[in-house]
Amino acid sequence: MAKYIFITGGVVSSLGKGLTAASLGRLLISRGLSIRMLKVDPYLNVDPGTMSPYQHGEVYVTDDGAETDLDLGHYERFTGQPTSRKSNFTAGRIYWEVLKKERHGDYLGGTVQMIPHITDEIKAHIRALDEEGVDVVLVEIGGTVGDIEGLTFLEAIRQIGLEEGRDNVMYIHLTYVPYIKAAGEVKTKPSQQSVAKLREIGIVPDALICRSEVDLTDDVRKKLSLFCNVPTHAVIQEKDVDHTIYELPLVLSEQGLDEIIMVHFRLARPQAKLTQWRKLVDTIINPKRTARIAVVGKYSELQDAYKSIFEAIYHGGFAHEAKVEIVKVAAEEIEDGKHHEVLKSAGGILVPGGFGTRGIEGKIHAIRVARENGIPFLGICLGLQCAVIEFARNVCGLKGAQTTEIEKDAPHPVVCLMEEQEKVVDLGGTMRLGAWPCALVKGTRAAAAYGTDKISERHRHRYEVNNKYRAEFEKNGLVLSGISPDGNLVEMVELKTHPWFVACQFHPEFKSQPLAPHPLFRAFVGASLERIL
Ligand code: GLN
Repeated sequence: MAKYIFITGGVVSSLGKGLTAASLGRLLISRGLSIRMLKVDPYLNVDPGTMSPYQHGEVYVTDDGAETDLDLGHYERFTGQPTSRKSNFTAGRIYWEVLKKERHGDYLGGTVQMIPHITDEIKAHIRALDEEGVDVVLVEIGGTVGDIEGLTFLEAIRQIGLEEGRDNVMYIHLTYVPYIKAAGEVKTKPSQQSVAKLREIGIVPDALICRSEVDLTDDVRKKLSLFCNVPTHAVIQEKDVDHTIYELPLVLSEQGLDEIIMVHFRLARPQAKLTQWRKLVDTIINPKRTARIAVVGKYSELQDAYKSIFEAIYHGGFAHEAKVEIVKVAAEEIEDGKHHEVLKSAGGILVPGGFGTRGIEGKIHAIRVARENGIPFLGICLGLQCAVIEFARNVCGLKGAQTTEIEKDAPHPVVCLMEEQEKVVDLGGTMRLGAWPCALVKGTRAAAAYGTDKISERHRHRYEVNNKYRAEFEKNGLVLSGISPDGNLVEMVELKTHPWFVACQFHPEFKSQPLAPHPLFRAFVGASLERIL
């Protein structure tokens, strides 16, 4: 039987609950525990797959093809273990399951209610993580305590505390302790009130993690302890980290958070082994070189839209003991003639995945700049599709080459809908999703980067390189370096006569980890470091 840790958030959103949960995951693994992580989202979409990056940031894809919350990316990066379809669910999915059962007649004769039907369904989804051999299930509750839509989730986790026994369940509340400049002091009232809200429901937190910009004095800790009913040693400070998010597990461990958990659960485990992690942080803090990479995206102003891409680029840098400076370039503005100097002087250019028309010509132009100037280039998903369009138009001379996502009747539909996608009507969960095998051609840059010719990578797309143009592309020098094992789908392309120009139809960024940088990002950043201007 697994123990449960529930992480709630108070006062404001965007406190970094996902990073805190992921760091805790790393600490527990470092103490030799087997864990599972879960993110629960109280909104009504069945999953985030159809949500805009403006609403939700990146959609993270698991091996088994679930479109999930970006916090799962943090979980995988910090813990080094894969998440799955079970690792994220929303209120929408819960209601959907309950309503399907109701229509099926499963509750025949009964009134279907928030308690117990919705709460039972939530509990069943949480308990599904309690698999054979799992010691601790870490559950992050999305949203902020006090939100109406989060109430059933809080009620469900309160019930789990009662059912499993308080010794087997821990509640950790992440809160914000603001520093008021004019008064020259930090304020504990918002935290007191958010804990009061939790206690109203019947949840008494066992530890408080306080986000703050300044150090908390002993007096402040004592005050928080008294008013929030948490022992002083369990009032943990989470000040903004100086250098990198990867410092966080160390910050929490230094204050004994993992020890507090061991004591609560009466688990006797050796101290956390964090040698490798410390070495990683040390490498990040003391880089030996710097690379500058331009990321040409549609959402250049958004932090979260390309979360895994940015992290994977940094990881690529870690592999070379290098710091990577990322320049976010708005694809649309390239169309207005801007940013050409930025592109030309970059160590490397990356075009990430995306959907729709906006910015696509800017991305195609950026790829042309990379191709013609020998600038290392990595294209991902839509980035590969744009690279193929650029090659078709400017190397093969196929005027009007386009993806049919943008122009249905393009004169040269070099990227088009996959056959099985033609009849798809619903938009949610119907793309080509999850891990698929791919065979790499020997002697290519792709094969050299991976060091193998058989790989498996995660996908999220509907469109694909049009096979009718394969011969034409190859004749003109495009190397089709990765193909699906059945020979039907082009998964990777590259250029022979270029320092490093590689694109993939899948999303390698989802599998990159700080302790295991992804081969393509490692090779791409490596090539960018070599670029001499
Ligand atoms: N819009 C493209 C497709 O559906 C690319 C998707 C992506 O970049 N994730 O195929």
